[in-house]
Amino acid sequence: MSDDCIFCSIVDGDIPSYTVYEDDEVMAFLDANPLARGHTLVIPKAHHERVNDLPADRSTALFDAVHDLTGRVEAAADAAATTIAVNNGTAAGQEVPHVHVHIVPRSEADGGRPIHALIEDRPDVDDDELDDVAAAIRGD
Ligand code: 5GP
Ligand code: ZN
Repeated sequence: MSDDCIFCSIVDGDIPSYTVYEDDEVMAFLDANPLARGHTLVIPKAHHERVNDLPADRSTALFDAVHDLTGRVEAAADAAATTIAVNNGTAAGQEVPHVHVHIVPRSEADGGRPIHALIEDRPDVDDDELDDVAAAIRGD
């Protein structure tokens, strides 16, 4: 729990929300400024800023809830698809510093773009660089 966190205040009931799911670990509610009808945020109840800060069991609980909710959001919004996304850190556009997974209903006609439209100026990587970064991620 963080005193000045909007999402902790929602968990505590101090700020109202349109809650769509709640269990001991996880809560989900409608986004106050939705990108589409049914845009839902899924959060761990405990305050952690980023996905990589979550203990493994909380991460599992969070993504289990995302898994359970996605079809329900699509059905309620009559959406053909969803974009499921996390802005993970301020440099990635995260504004509320409490982990949240966006479930955004999508349709062919919504004018939205895919994740690959996020960054237009893409690196031109050769095989050596792919080798290097794969090794770095593996921790070789
Ligand atoms: P971020 O940019 O951090 O990934 O997304 C934060 C999201 O939280 C935004 O989509 C914004 O509309 C939503 N949001 C911010 N404040 C509130 C609030 O008080 N209640 C709800 N339900 N959503 C909020
Ligand atoms: Zn918080």
